[in-house]
Amino acid sequence: MQTSARLVIIGAGIVGCSTAYHLAKLGWRDVLVIDQGPFPRTGGSTSHAPGGMFQTNTSKLMTGLAHYSAHLYESLRWDDQPCAALVGGIELAETPERWADLKRKAGLGRSWGLENHLLTPDECKARIPILDQRKVLGGFFVPDDGVARAVNACSAMAREASAGGAVTFQGNVTVQDIEVVDGRVRAVVTDQGRVACEAVLCCAGIWGPRIGRMVGQPIPLMPMEHQYTKTEPLPELAEWAASEITIPLLRAQDHASYYRQHFDSWGIGNYRHVPLPVEPDAILSPKDAPVMPSIRDWTPEHFEEAHRAAINLFPAVEGRALTYKINGMFSFTPDAQSLLGESQVARGFWVAEAVWVTHGGGVGKVMAEWLEAGEPQLDVHEADLHRFYPHHATSSFVRRRGKQNYLEVYDIIHPKQQMEEPRNLRTGPAHPRLVEQGAAFFETAGFERAQWCEANARLLDGRNLPGRDGWAARFWSPIEAAEALHTRENAALYDLSAFAIMEISGSGALPFLQHMTTNQMDVKPGRVVYTNMLDRRGGIVCDLTVARLAADRFWIITGGGVGPHDFAWIRDHAPDDGSVRLEDVGGKWAVFGLWGPKARTILESVTEDDVSHQGLKYFHWKDITIGYVPARAFRVSYVGELGWEIYCPMELGLKLWDTLWEAGRPHDLIAAGMGAFDSLRLEKGYRGWGADMTPDDTPLEAGLDFIVRWDKGDFHGREALERQKEQGITKRLCTLTFEDPDAIVLGKEPIFANGGERAVGYVTSANHGYSVGRTIALGWLPVEHSAHGSKLEVEYFGRRFAATVQPDVLFDPEMTRIRV
Ligand code: FAD
Repeated sequence: MQTSARLVIIGAGIVGCSTAYHLAKLGWRDVLVIDQGPFPRTGGSTSHAPGGMFQTNTSKLMTGLAHYSAHLYESLRWDDQPCAALVGGIELAETPERWADLKRKAGLGRSWGLENHLLTPDECKARIPILDQRKVLGGFFVPDDGVARAVNACSAMAREASAGGAVTFQGNVTVQDIEVVDGRVRAVVTDQGRVACEAVLCCAGIWGPRIGRMVGQPIPLMPMEHQYTKTEPLPELAEWAASEITIPLLRAQDHASYYRQHFDSWGIGNYRHVPLPVEPDAILSPKDAPVMPSIRDWTPEHFEEAHRAAINLFPAVEGRALTYKINGMFSFTPDAQSLLGESQVARGFWVAEAVWVTHGGGVGKVMAEWLEAGEPQLDVHEADLHRFYPHHATSSFVRRRGKQNYLEVYDIIHPKQQMEEPRNLRTGPAHPRLVEQGAAFFETAGFERAQWCEANARLLDGRNLPGRDGWAARFWSPIEAAEALHTRENAALYDLSAFAIMEISGSGALPFLQHMTTNQMDVKPGRVVYTNMLDRRGGIVCDLTVARLAADRFWIITGGGVGPHDFAWIRDHAPDDGSVRLEDVGGKWAVFGLWGPKARTILESVTEDDVSHQGLKYFHWKDITIGYVPARAFRVSYVGELGWEIYCPMELGLKLWDTLWEAGRPHDLIAAGMGAFDSLRLEKGYRGWGADMTPDDTPLEAGLDFIVRWDKGDFHGREALERQKEQGITKRLCTLTFEDPDAIVLGKEPIFANGGERAVGYVTSANHGYSVGRTIALGWLPVEHSAHGSKLEVEYFGRRFAATVQPDVLFDPEMTRIRV
């Protein structure tokens, strides 16, 4: 075996092969792909997958990757046969809830540009000859869903990647260790010898955690047993026996099963059983288990229910023998997303893990482009390897969430649905007080935050607030409305202790930050600056508040959910010459937002410091004492009212909360939750990173031109942004409102123009704006539809609501309520 390579890819499953194929296309040479099993049928998950590809996904990223993969596989040939059969995919509804959800899903698919149709039971029957159509209410049909011939696709991609010697594939080689020197990968040690290399890409699937351990990089995934079976030939399918697959791929999520045709046999896969996790260390090697790596054979007790359900839908299956049965395994992560990126523990150690065949083709392209450019070439934040907090990577958490995600894989999941366990992992000092207020807790990155407080139900009396029903009313309370209005009319205290804070210090701190941000960082200590960080494409990677604490010391503040992602980006780009120190200090600081027209009266009653408009100006911070608590007050407001974000050491947090609470009593101060917070920020047009804008969007497109300081000199991403400034933008993040006062949307719905069938854009986030008396949606639109007054339609569960593009800021655009 060769003794050196530029890149060693561990694993020749769909992900390893696809990455090698795309690297070869980019002109890479000297790439070695090794697998412990015989290549191409390696014994990994790819060799067991029936290859079903349903593209529609709540994630735009995953839908795009699936679309690319399906068409890539179809374009590849092996044995004169395409490596995918895009025969269409149908999701069946057996319950009214599912049928309603499929209508929602049809909208979601259109938001991401996928053609789809809703089918009547008879139309389903016309496509699925053995279906008992009386059992279904309808189907959701995507014409270019289908089935991948995954092993063939691996072979075809390997053949093309090897042509000309760019990539070498080597089976029956087991990686035993990875050498890391001075924090960088140097070599891979195998049972066939040592391979010196510049980088390693781990595509080891369910074995990933074992490989990660070799370099100290947690790979939080849980291998789960998963069975698949085929019936003996069915006479009812005799007419279809000549072709491997012509009948659309099927899933019946109401009983967590999926089906496909194999000539005249019927394939059945199911998730309808207790989850069966397998510890990565217990997985057998292909040498010990040549057919499959699982720890045991088929377990009939985990198939009984699915079998009954299959017979119910497809009576032809009854009494037929199951002639092929496999108990394979594949990976589930804590949030059911993939794991992509480069380790920060061992540089040069890259990860592409927890990927389905459905997305493998696209993930290979993403990884190849990322390796080539040093930055991802599209928004992959949902799959970012660094999105987790340490508690997410513990084996207990990974096991618990992996099991739950297996169970829920086909469930109808509300966008605000809360995980039931594990909960109460991260709590702030005000948590007991919020419990006393009857808070409905929603978690973000493990942190428990109040969404609303039942104690505020009293505020509903005498108010005529917009109601909600059905789907929109779930995980929502009218109390959110009362809290939002009370903030505008009186004052409210918000617990924001989930915020992530990074302290950046050292002689190189200012130049580093100047280079990484769009706004001017060379401001006087005491100033606060709102800024973006961009990738080289000009895309928004981080959306931050920066406070200059001293000449050489800054705080970077970002949302709790995105903290690990943002800080990984910052660490990744920081100089390693010792001139810049980075410290994640979020866990040390409690943060409370005190906002509303009465906020100053309240604060002045418990501080001797000057917190007047002049004493602590807008977008400035200052250390003050509140009662007995030394605190740091930031004069900023995400809700659009006078007030401060107030920071104090975590251990003083409860005292600070109680001090402000007591001071607020005479002024009807309430504790408010994130539901109100979200509504208030939408009225102000404040964007949320991750939902409203991502690395696929630039500040010019997002309406954030005002935080790009062209006169500050060069900054990361400037070149691309300059180009866009010259050429002009083609899309714009817009604020929309609805003519129908009862209209409600929740996010990700498609936007249509002129009654058209193809979506021109999609909603990113939405909520009632209680002060403006309308539902507000932010959404992406092509520039030609982005002018104020443009008339559009937003589809929600199959119903279209007339919507109008408005100015970005609907409430107090002159900022008269904040700058007082
Ligand atoms: P793998 O295919 O597992 O490849 C990893 C490779 O790494 C293996 O070949 C292994 O031998 C090698 N390796 C590991 N450790 C070492 C080492 N130390 N040294 C050398 N090599 C090593 N997905 C879908 O999209 N649609 C489906 O319909 C579908 N159905 C499925 C049905 C079943 C029964 C199963 C088990 C899975 C199914 N999946 C499906 C999931 C899908 O198969 C996997 O998610 C996907 O194949 C993972 O690909 P991979 O390349 O990451 O991993």
